[in-house]
Amino acid sequence: MNIKLQITAICVAFLSTVSAATLAKSELMINGVSFESRAHWMRLANSALEISGSPCPFAAFGTVIVNHTGSDTGKLICMGVNENSKTGNPSLHAILTDPMGHFQLTPSEAQAAFNDLSLYTNAESCPMCAAAIRWSGFREYIYGTSIDTLIEEGWGQIRVPSVDIFAASYDLPTQSRLIGNLLANETDPFFLWQYNPSYPCPHGCMRSKDLHASPSCS
Ligand SMILES: [Zn+2]
Repeated sequence: MNIKLQITAICVAFLSTVSAATLAKSELMINGVSFESRAHWMRLANSALEISGSPCPFAAFGTVIVNHTGSDTGKLICMGVNENSKTGNPSLHAILTDPMGHFQLTPSEAQAAFNDLSLYTNAESCPMCAAAIRWSGFREYIYGTSIDTLIEEGWGQIRVPSVDIFAASYDLPTQSRLIGNLLANETDPFFLWQYNPSYPCPHGCMRSKDLHASPSCS
C-alpha cells in the first residue's frame, strides 16, 4: 500500500473509535486542510533539521508549528529541532516557551495561540512530549515516522504511542486531532541510517570512507 494513503486520523471526541484508527485517503481534507498542504509542512519539518547546521543530525527530529485557521495553506509560526544534546535537559525539547529554544513564545502568546495551532513533527513524540502537546491544547498534532518504526530501527524509546496519551486525555477541556504516519515514506529515511551502517545517508550527507572513523553521516 502506498504509505501516502496511510494517514491515520483519530479524533479524541470519538473514543470508541480510537482502537480502530480511521484510514483516510490522500484526497480527503481533514479539518479543512488538504494532503498537499500537510505534505508541504511535513517536508518543512524535515528541512528544519538544517537549523542544526547539518541536513543529517543524529537526532533528526524536526518540528514546525502552523496556523491553518482561515486557510488550507496555513501560516508558519515557528520551526525547531531537538536540542537535548545542547540543553542537557530532555524536558525542554518540546517546550515552546523555552527562552533557549527556537520557539520562544511568551507564556501568554503560547496559551492564546495553541487552540489555533497545528504541530507537525517528522517523528512521533515521546510520551512526555505527547502529554505536553495535549496539555497545551494544540488544535492538531501530526507526525511522520512512528515510535514503532523508531524502535524497530534501533532507537531507544518508551513504548507508549501518542494515541494512548490522547485517548487518556478526555478530561481535558480542549480537544485535539491526531494524524499519524503522514508522509512517513519521506520522514523514515531520516531515522533509518543511525543504527544501520548499510542504510544510505539522507540527501546531502555521506558516510566516512575511513573504517576507523565514526560511521555517522555528515
Ligand atoms: Zn519528547
